[in-house]
Amino acid sequence: MASCFKIYPDKKNRKLYFMVTVWDSKKKMYEFYDSIEERFKECDSIDKNKYEHNFVGMSFPYRLYIKKTMKMRQEIGQILLCKGNLSSEILSHECTHAALHYIRVLKEEYKENNIYDNPLEIEYEEVLCYVQGDMTQQLVNKLYKEGYYN
Ligand SMILES: [Zn+2]
Repeated sequence: MASCFKIYPDKKNRKLYFMVTVWDSKKKMYEFYDSIEERFKECDSIDKNKYEHNFVGMSFPYRLYIKKTMKMRQEIGQILLCKGNLSSEILSHECTHAALHYIRVLKEEYKENNIYDNPLEIEYEEVLCYVQGDMTQQLVNKLYKEGYYN
């Protein structure tokens, strides 16, 4: 059985979230990945040739809009993980991708201009590191709770 839960780039204001799924095996994760890839076929932002079945974790960012209102959905991506591949290296790697996506969403959808554009600026770095660290911590807490490190 896979575990499925949400993590929040901003814990205090839980308006946006990533879905996390932890699969029992790489094989099951790849089957799921192929099915979402199929579902998002028409979405330009996804480079379909980019990933073969050679990853041990995957951050799958997106922005979905409600047709009627063009309002963006609160779910802004998925993180795919699998049992046996839950090291801090993998978790922080995927959370870094997710954090960068979140920052893009803040800037482009919410016009939050207090985040500097240049990743080399300390102000940008601080936002990135805070969000990344917080999401990694949420992941670790949840994985511990669900017994993945026993
Ligand atoms: Zn990566």
